[in-house]
Amino acid sequence: MSEFRADLHCHSTCSDGTYTPEEIVRLAKNIGLSGLSITDHDTIKAYQTAIPVANEIGIQLLPGVEFSAYLDDESVHILGYGFDLESKAMALLCDRHIERRQERNAAILTLLKKHGMDVSYDDLLAASSQAPQTNQHKSIGRPHIAMAMVKKGYVESIPEAFKKFLAEDKPCFSQGKTISVGETIDVIHDAKGVAIIAHPHLIKKGKILHALLDMDFNGIECYYGKFSAKDNKRWIQIAKDKEWLITGGSDFHGTVKPNIELGSSWIDEENFLALSG
Ligand code: AMP
Ligand code: FE
Ligand code: FE
Ligand code: ZN
Repeated sequence: MSEFRADLHCHSTCSDGTYTPEEIVRLAKNIGLSGLSITDHDTIKAYQTAIPVANEIGIQLLPGVEFSAYLDDESVHILGYGFDLESKAMALLCDRHIERRQERNAAILTLLKKHGMDVSYDDLLAASSQAPQTNQHKSIGRPHIAMAMVKKGYVESIPEAFKKFLAEDKPCFSQGKTISVGETIDVIHDAKGVAIIAHPHLIKKGKILHALLDMDFNGIECYYGKFSAKDNKRWIQIAKDKEWLITGGSDFHGTVKPNIELGSSWIDEENFLALSG
């Protein structure tokens, strides 16, 4: 029997990944994972097609999502797991995010135009999916804008698009409407799920991290592709002190982030059972 491994952080074509939910489930099985959660940005659409495949091929699929939220003007990503996929509160929050993203993408496209780059909404759709019928519920964001910019020859690569134009401090960034951390945690709890602080090492301001650690979270992402072993210890100690859940995953996005492989970060059976049981 091989070791139990569950990768609880990855993105499908329903947000900014390049593998369909079905392809991710099959890949997970092929590389020997026992558990998986697909955590698309601000949408749970992946589960419609992922669940039947997971049942068919035999892999434990835990409902998951990665919500974009804000605390004091700082961007914070919140993972939700084990929630009721039929929850109305969850559906409503996902719909609000789609609307927020539509407005904000339009603002970014206007800024690009001012800088001499002509990218249309159709270009984003074309850059984002081989399957147009999935676009209706898709979470479209800056990675898709970056892909369209590459396709149109305005930049050489996705990282260059962020570095020159789309990153938070660059000229074509627009934040748009924001949804708070507190509100997001409440919705996840309303849907009977657990709320987890995602990739805490990316939270640069100590004040924000401390404020988050005092909020009503249930856990923290302790294993992540880019953590050093020393970092893992720090977050695990925090989880232990607070009696919080320990989660982890690769943050696999497919070919848009080619150096991150599915299964490169994972949690063991004990932590998976604590989360899903
Ligand atoms: P959005 O949710 O539209 O604000 O886009 C954020 C997503 O863009 C993140 O989740 C990453 O997947 C991606 N991203 C952020 N910064 C970079 C970067 N510098 N290079 C490539 N991708 C990035
Ligand atoms: Fe992403
Ligand atoms: Fe994230
Ligand atoms: Zn992610």
